[in-house]
Amino acid sequence: MKALKSALDRRSRATDYVLLAVRTKDDMASRKNEANLVYDMLTRAIIEQALAPETKLPEEAISKQLNVSRHAVRSALQMLAADELVEIKQNKGATVAKPSVEQGRDILRMRMELEDVVIRTLAGKLTAAQVEELRNSVKLEHEYLEKDPASYKGQTSSFHRTLARMTNSKLLSKYLEPLLTQSSLVFYIYGRPHWTKCNSDEHTEIIDALEIGNIDRAQSIMRMHLEAIYERAFSDDKISDIKSLHDALDKYTQVGNSALRKANA
Ligand SMILES: [Zn+2]
Repeated sequence: MKALKSALDRRSRATDYVLLAVRTKDDMASRKNEANLVYDMLTRAIIEQALAPETKLPEEAISKQLNVSRHAVRSALQMLAADELVEIKQNKGATVAKPSVEQGRDILRMRMELEDVVIRTLAGKLTAAQVEELRNSVKLEHEYLEKDPASYKGQTSSFHRTLARMTNSKLLSKYLEPLLTQSSLVFYIYGRPHWTKCNSDEHTEIIDALEIGNIDRAQSIMRMHLEAIYERAFSDDKISDIKSLHDALDKYTQVGNSALRKANA
């Protein structure tokens, strides 16, 4: 409860005024907006690893703290459950999801495949403004790295979200964004502190390759980038079926290496 309260506290101040504006209209649309805000706030807390897996999410406590209706909280929790970020059990209420190693491996595989589609879609097609936006995003990562670890985690994830958004494919964003958030849960459970963050220099290399339209290089850097994060996340000896995860990664390592050799040739 304490973790939930402090996670919500951090976020509630920033959105108080938005919620206030929303509540002035007591109609269906405002309830939907409230639900979206609660959804965004809880998603953000999961991304920044402020909320641990299995944290209880009682409707009443959340609605009181955020001063929104229980209906809005319930709708938000249902949306999060659809994204597999929250588990709702009859008579037990909602908790933050806890992906198993097997599920973590699945999240990894699907995320890699979809981010590959993102790269293929964007290589050589980014506008100057988009390149600038991406470079500014990496600049922010560097700024947060020392002074604000929670925002840093959110910002590195934001780089991948921004790329997905730039494809202009609603379908791609719809499927990839929950996977990016689920990744944060996987890192929370299986990662070691400081081991699960993106490498900002690789983000810059990805932008460089996308900008000049070197699709092979952009693909291979992205693959290696994701493999490195996940390998670090799952390299803890305490994970019993670590072998199966490594087997899953093996295939991508080979693809990534051969693509890199081709790109450097
Ligand atoms: Zn990254």
